[in-house]
Amino acid sequence: MMNKGRIFSGMQPSGRFHLGNYMGALENWVRLQHEYECFFSIVDLHALTSSYADTSKLQENVMEMAIDWLSAGLDPEKNVIFVQSHVKEHAELALLLGMSTPLGWLERVPTYKDKIRDLEGTNKDLHTYGFLGYPVLMAADIMLYKATCVPVGEDQSAHLELTREIVRRFNYMYKKEVFPEPQAVYSKAKVLPGIDGRKMSKSYGNTIPFGASPEELWQQVRMMTTDPKRIKKTDPGDPNVCIVYQFHKVFNTEEANNIAAQCCAGSIGCVQCKKMLAEKMNNMLADIHIKREELSKKPGYIKEVLEYGAQRARVEAENNMAEIKAAMNIW
Ligand code: SF4
Repeated sequence: MMNKGRIFSGMQPSGRFHLGNYMGALENWVRLQHEYECFFSIVDLHALTSSYADTSKLQENVMEMAIDWLSAGLDPEKNVIFVQSHVKEHAELALLLGMSTPLGWLERVPTYKDKIRDLEGTNKDLHTYGFLGYPVLMAADIMLYKATCVPVGEDQSAHLELTREIVRRFNYMYKKEVFPEPQAVYSKAKVLPGIDGRKMSKSYGNTIPFGASPEELWQQVRMMTTDPKRIKKTDPGDPNVCIVYQFHKVFNTEEANNIAAQCCAGSIGCVQCKKMLAEKMNNMLADIHIKREELSKKPGYIKEVLEYGAQRARVEAENNMAEIKAAMNIW
């Protein structure tokens, strides 16, 4: 039942997905596809805004992301799944919107300053036109399809607000309600820590790969940080300082309380506790692993899916672009 509106959302292809990415966003998309008309884009142009100097892995990353999405259960018939650069109107609309977007609006986006600060001292230079204009490209992505809804996490609400401002400014300036103001669809994303307790991130080397095999999963679960004060199996533990327990709460919700009680009483060993977790995770993720393995062997099919999605996206983009240009007296 698709009656709640049209969604646009994208993800940057930046290497193999991990379980944190899946729980943080993709799992939500899989749910949303049943409620909304969805345009899901692998936003490779966005990847260039920060990783412009080395593009050697870009195509591979796009393919990996498409495999991840399909393995997770995104339906390429139900949704329009495509690569951003395959629809040239994204770049065209970003250029047009960039003409009228005040610099001050871009400079005050919190993630802009944060990212520049994070990269101080590294060899990445984000003092570029493309990086500053990133939110304009994001606005173009959403506006090109006249999306009415955008799934957002907490750190992206400033971007969506900027898109709404750009929409209002356009409609007011060209005296035509060309674009709807997109609304936020907030979701309760599950946050998974990395296996060492820090944020799950490839740069920390603490991730669990998305679509991991049972062996890979066990290797990662085995290395998870537990209560460091627990030496012997009979020592009472504190589940709240244990990463394994954080995962039990997500993947083994029914038994999590029981496990916490056993941990506090010193009646369960950490190895046994980890084995239980790995089994639960396997039960939940086995289908994804199998599907991912199958799809990885079919690059021709993945390319067909992306081309099919691009064709459908182009029809919409070309129609809307004609209307946008007419409103701006461009022909
Ligand atoms: S028993 Fe389980 S919850 Fe308790 S410290 Fe060991 S691994 Fe963590």
